[in-house]
Amino acid sequence: MHIRTVEGLVAAGLVDDDAALDAVAAKYVIGITPAVLALIDANDPNDPMARQFVPTPAELETTLEERADPIGDLSHSPVEGIVHRYPDRVLLKAVHVCPVYCRFCFRREMVGPQGLGTLTPAQLDAAVDYIASHDDIWEVILTGGDPLVLSPRRLAEMMARLAGIAHVRIVRFHTRVPVVEPERVDAAMIGALKASGKTTYLAVHANHPREFTPAARAAMARIADAGIALVSQSVLLAGVNDDVETLAALMQGFVENRVQPYYLHHPDLAPGTSHFRVSIAKGQALVSALRGRISGLCQPVYVLDIPGGHGKADIGAATIVGDEGHYSVRDWQGQTHRYPPEADDTV
Ligand code: SF4
Repeated sequence: MHIRTVEGLVAAGLVDDDAALDAVAAKYVIGITPAVLALIDANDPNDPMARQFVPTPAELETTLEERADPIGDLSHSPVEGIVHRYPDRVLLKAVHVCPVYCRFCFRREMVGPQGLGTLTPAQLDAAVDYIASHDDIWEVILTGGDPLVLSPRRLAEMMARLAGIAHVRIVRFHTRVPVVEPERVDAAMIGALKASGKTTYLAVHANHPREFTPAARAAMARIADAGIALVSQSVLLAGVNDDVETLAALMQGFVENRVQPYYLHHPDLAPGTSHFRVSIAKGQALVSALRGRISGLCQPVYVLDIPGGHGKADIGAATIVGDEGHYSVRDWQGQTHRYPPEADDTV
């Protein structure tokens, strides 16, 4: 059962009938796939899967610092569907639909049936023309929404158009499909993700190790076996993964599935999401603890998307302060050391 309504949530036993949820659903779309539904423990009031996908009245509370476009997509959009924030890469947002709708989504005001929709053929032409006319665009990042909701035929058409642009070398997909709808990742879909002469990367969004079901693992293996490079993307979320055991298992799970840990996002200031936010100090302590606990292969970069569209800042690296010759560097246990060491420092 693919749940898309409050009635569906009630029928599945995930919520009680609550008028406040109708108000939430009127603002923010609901979506829970059968694969995700199977992971939710309806008897656990703190279930990390339910917390990610089942709406709550807390979403009606907005705080002063929250904003509809928290990372400034719209102010960096030269044509519909393109976000051009850095010289060498663009986002191509062809579709604003997702198989699931995450309650903490940073684009929650843009996704779903009431959102920005899918690019029309003319808009897609203009977006591709923009990429073709900017020689310094080395990478195109297909995001949305979730680009893997598109049919293999439409994805293949898009990839064929990008294949014709010589300066584009990398095409990167950002998607939750391998974990929330793994059966979509079949041979036709995988074939459509490749383009002659281009290198395809696929960033898998997962936030809790329970998302790595046997079906999800098999989907990621099919992608890796096809020669597509996999990287990870997670959001640090209160009550979901804001403890070192869960984060460690999540990052190890990625590596076990041939997904290179990449981004751990500090949660963005999206409306109605304050119940998911953790402090930056806590996030830094968590990534620091990961450093001492699990393999270097498993270390994500802890990033903040600076509100207003100023790009990403690595905020986990606040471990070294000072000037050349007089640095103080903090280790994973929180102790500081001089760098370079003084002659009398013990090793
Ligand atoms: S899949 Fe991505 S874009 Fe879609 S609701 Fe979740 S976070 Fe937002």
